[in-house]
Amino acid sequence: MDLAVDYLVERNFVVRSQGNLSLRNVIGEGYLITPADVPWHRFDSKSVVLMHPDGCFSGQRTQSSEWRMHDFIYRDHPDIGAIVHAHPANAVALSHRTFRHTDPLGIPLMNFPYEDFVHFGGGIPILPPLPSGTEELAEHVSRALGVGGSIKYPALILAQHGVVAVGRDLEQALTTMDLVEHLCEIRLKIPPADTY
Ligand SMILES: [Zn+2]
Repeated sequence: MDLAVDYLVERNFVVRSQGNLSLRNVIGEGYLITPADVPWHRFDSKSVVLMHPDGCFSGQRTQSSEWRMHDFIYRDHPDIGAIVHAHPANAVALSHRTFRHTDPLGIPLMNFPYEDFVHFGGGIPILPPLPSGTEELAEHVSRALGVGGSIKYPALILAQHGVVAVGRDLEQALTTMDLVEHLCEIRLKIPPADTY
């Protein structure tokens, strides 16, 4: 987890104590998550919090305030082993635009005629702004990723907030996060009238 945090900081995807990441506990139940209010330069493996299935936690710190989102995702999607949530600048800036395509759930979808979008299930959903850390946000995010346990989209954008990327492991989730930000950077360079 330390390497994943370093990577997010180096890429400027998070500043101070923004964002959070987690890893399904493969040697037991629950999942490991980054703590609340610990600036990233002070983060180390001792600050990681173990979340139990009953919502209790073990560790020297309290869990990230956005833990409910991780909780819902792990519960609804057994194939997901890692979740990364960050606030990359281009993705957040792009989420202020209006997109005319929607997915079957009616969620606005950012898409490109690029090969990269095959990886994203044809687009990246942009969820409307919802308060951070709430059950409402957690439920919306988990449902938007896919229903019935299957993953339709490996990443989504939370409008005016950040990005959630998931994967079998942290490396896969970080790669997806990277790709989202890269595509959003390109998309921002295209005048809104020319967008798809
Ligand atoms: Zn956030």
